[in-house]
Formats: sequence, structure tokens, C-alpha cells
Amino acid sequence: MASRCWRWWGRSAWPWTPPLSVGSIPSFRHQFSTQETTPQICVVGSGPAGFYTAQHLLKQHPQAHVDIYEKQPVPFGLVRFGVAPDHPEVKNVINTFTQTAHCGRCAFWGNVEVGRDVTVPELREAYHAVVLSYGAEDHRALEIPGEELPGVCSARAFVGWYNGLPENQELKPDLSCDTAVILGQGNVALDVARILLTPPEHLEKTDITKAALDVLRQSRVKTVWLVGRRGPLQVAFTIKELREMIQLPGTRPILDPVDFLGLQDRLKGTAWRQSTMLTEVPRPRKRLTELLLRTAMEKPGPEEAARRASASRAWGLRFFRSPQQVLPSPDGQGAAGVRLAVTRLEGVGEATRAVPTGAMEDLPCGLVLSSIGYKSRPIDPSVPFDSKLGVIPNVEGRVTDVPGLYCSGWVKRGPTGVIATTMTDSFLTGQMLLQDLKAGLLPSGPRPGSAAIQALLSSRGVQPVSFSDWEKLDAEEVARGQGTGRPREKLVDPQEMLHLLGH
Ligand code: FAD
Repeated sequence: MASRCWRWWGRSAWPWTPPLSVGSIPSFRHQFSTQETTPQICVVGSGPAGFYTAQHLLKQHPQAHVDIYEKQPVPFGLVRFGVAPDHPEVKNVINTFTQTAHCGRCAFWGNVEVGRDVTVPELREAYHAVVLSYGAEDHRALEIPGEELPGVCSARAFVGWYNGLPENQELKPDLSCDTAVILGQGNVALDVARILLTPPEHLEKTDITKAALDVLRQSRVKTVWLVGRRGPLQVAFTIKELREMIQLPGTRPILDPVDFLGLQDRLKGTAWRQSTMLTEVPRPRKRLTELLLRTAMEKPGPEEAARRASASRAWGLRFFRSPQQVLPSPDGQGAAGVRLAVTRLEGVGEATRAVPTGAMEDLPCGLVLSSIGYKSRPIDPSVPFDSKLGVIPNVEGRVTDVPGLYCSGWVKRGPTGVIATTMTDSFLTGQMLLQDLKAGLLPSGPRPGSAAIQALLSSRGVQPVSFSDWEKLDAEEVARGQGTGRPREKLVDPQEMLHLLGH
């Protein structure tokens, strides 16, 4: 079975990678000779971090068995519930994850919430090592008055709603207003703005939920503002997402040229060097800023000018504004706007921060979405947690002071970075775990692995969902989508999923 697993992935740079067959390579066998039993490893979370960690372990150790526990009945974390429905190419990583799940030494146990259905100490008892890859499921609160008003929600919940995350299906945002304000200027903020403004017929062929599509069809939102405390040089989104926004059909960008004054000189070098003491603006940042500058300052060609003139919707970037309060509507039943403090920049380079000038401004709107970041939750009292940084304290994936416990992905390094970043850091965690295994730092002797945990779960009335169960749900979703020409119609109710599986 072992050779079957890694043939799919080919060779890697990792020095222990066997070229063809594990059994025929004595030196490879010797690497793990101190560990006579099958290493039983479990991973908590089936997002990119969980799957990439599992992939690394299975590929680099010919006997390791990896169980992946996932609280949702379905796998893939933010690839399913975060990545925008109009970016299907990003979801191709699911093919790689599926190959990992098909490896005979890997098992998926969905519908099992660690911390509720089974504890981390119980997992540590049953396995030689436990890897926590449970992501960052909370959002950072704005901590301003009015945040609790109807009409205010987190971008996290909004994304979960349109992507079919069960816990967000009750959100049903009210899109009857003219203007929406997104607080934040990162890629998630751009995703949300794009979904709000994309002509619904363009979303019809995606895997956005039918309920979300129906609401978006009725939307009256015409303008979306993305508000940031700092300036154009500090935006957190990337150039590909910005370019897509600028070219979004039926919309025009609103950028205030005043925000860009002097930026050209800074990019050229002299003024930037003088004011920041940095030698150069990093190249990706330079290209991004140039695109913003061109959009804000240059007169568009005739074709683009005509496109913008006929656009019925608009989006804009509001720089140097810090939210102070969500203003209530006269009846107190909704949001009427956001009070913003005007800011200016202080400090240089990475340390540049926004400080209030004392001026205030009200931005009218009926919908407020906060997109200022995700945050991990602590999972168990026995697992250290840095609540300030929102991560599990660790050194290269080894959880501080807890031998045999590891972490990867957003819970390891904080909620930033794309899937590729998560892959690299998960491989590193896998590498550290295998180093410890080789050095004899993990418990010796056999461990029961899933057998013990299944007995516990069964005694608690928990019915796990296997990967082949997921494949039945997957087939059902694809079949439901076929009638309407969509790639799938996502199942959004866990009870219905379990019912379909006969659980
Ligand atoms: P997650 O993907 O969140 O996976 C964590 C998993 O753990 C989830 O399945 C969760 O259900 C499970 N879990 C949580 N708690 C428990 C528990 N107690 N027990 C068991 N299981 C649990 N990157 C790109 O490259 N391209 C994009 O287009 C892109 N779009 C994005 C859009 C959004 C809205 C967001 C938020 C992120 C996006 N990213 C994108 C970033 C990418 O999604 C992350 O880098 C990646 O998902 C992080 O992986 P993770 O496994 O650490 O976390």
C-alpha cells in the first residue's frame, strides 16, 4: 500500500524520499529502525494545512498511518467555505487532497469536533503524535459602538453564507440598501465586494449556494466602499485580485487622486528613500501601487471610458479613515452609516501607522461588513494558546512545552497567507514531526489510533463521516447542480447530509 501512496506524488527534495519501493531501500528503512511499530498520527482539521501535513507524513514515512478528524461532515476547510465561488481554479487543490485521502494509510473522520466529541488528551493517548490544523474560525471584532446593530456582520460570516457554511445559513443579509461599506482592504474584502457587485448571471454557473444567489438577484446595492486606516501603499490585497476588481463587468472604480499625490515620486525612488529610509519598494508592492496609480490618475482609453460610463454599479477605496462607530438608523433597527476618523501616517516602512487628525466624517450606508481579519480559538485547556496573537505557541510547528503535539496552517502562524504558504508551512511541520520520530522523541510501543477513538465516539453517540461517505455527498451535490448547469448545488444542512448517508 505504501508504494501506491507516493507514486501519485512523485519525488520531492526531502532526503528520505524513496525512489521506487520502500522495502528495497535498506538505508531508508534504517531511518526509522528505532520505531518498530506503525506510527499512528492524527491531524485535527481537513483544510489545506491538515491535508498537506498528512500528505507529507504519508509520502515521507512508508508505514505512517494518518487519521484526519474534521468537525464538518465535509472536508477541505476554507477551500470549500472560503475561496470565492467565481475562482474555481483555486479549488483544484481538492484533487490533490482527494489523492491523499485515497491513500490506504489515511482515513478521514468527518462530523467529529475535537474539544467537544473527543478531547486533545484523548487523542494524545491514542496516537503517537497529534497535529492541530484547525484553522482560524473566529473574526476579529471591530470593538466600536453600534457593531451589534442589524445590518452589521463580519465578512467571515458573509463568505460562509454564500459558500454554504452550515453555521452561517441563517445570516440572510439585507441587501435592500444602496450602499455597503466594507471595513478592511485585504483580499477577503475584495472577494466580498466582488460578490456583492458581480452581475448575478455571472454567478449562476458557480457553486455559490442557491439561497445566496436568490438574495443577490434581489440586491439593490449599487456602491461598495472599502475603507482602510492607512494609504494606498499599505493595502493588504494583491494585484491579481485588484485587476479583477478593476475589470469587473458593469462596475467602475472610484479612487480619489488626492490620495495618490506624491506616490509616483516615491515609487521612482528618491522621495521614497528619503522618507522611509528603505532602499526600494518591494517589486510586488510597486506593481500593485502602479496599477492603483494608473486607475486613479490616468484618463482611461475610449473603450474603458465608455465601459465605465455605462456601469450601473461602483466600488471605491476610502483611504486614511478609521471606523469609530456604526451609526444607527432613526428607528434603531439597522445601520445608517459609519463614523470615520480621518487619519494621517506616522512612522516609516513596515512600522507606518495611522494616527487620527481629529477630523471626523460620516459615510452613509445600510450594510457594514467588517473584514479586519480572522482569529483562531483555543481548543482545549491542555493546549497552550496565545490569545493576543491568536495562535498556538510553537517552534516550527512543535507546540511549545508539549512533546508529541504539533500544529500547522493558520492556527500555527496566524490567519494570513494563501494555500501555497499553508502548504510550505505544513510540510515543515510534517518534517519536524518525522525528525522527532526518528530521534525517538515520540512515545514508543504500539498505539491504538482510530480504534480507541471510534470506541469513544460510538459510546458518545457520534457518527463519523468517512471519505467514501463524503464522495456520496459530493456525487449528490454534483447531480443536484446538473439540472441547472452548475458545477454542484452544495448541501448546507448537516442533518440532511447525515440523513442522505443513512446515519
Ligand atoms: P482552514 O482552511 O480553515 O481549515 C481548518 C479546518 O479545521 C476546517 O475544515 C475546520 O472545519 C476544521 N476544524 C476547526 N475546528 C475544529 C475542531 N475543533 N475539530 C475538528 N475540526 C476542526 N488562498 C488562496 O490561495 N486562494 C484564494 O482564493 C483564497 N481565498 C480565500 C478566501 C477567504 C474568504 C479566506 C478566509 C481565505 C482564503 N485563502 C485563499 C486562504 C486559504 O484559505 C488559507 O491559506 C487556508 O485555508 C488555511 O488553511 P488551514 O487548514 O490552516 O485552515
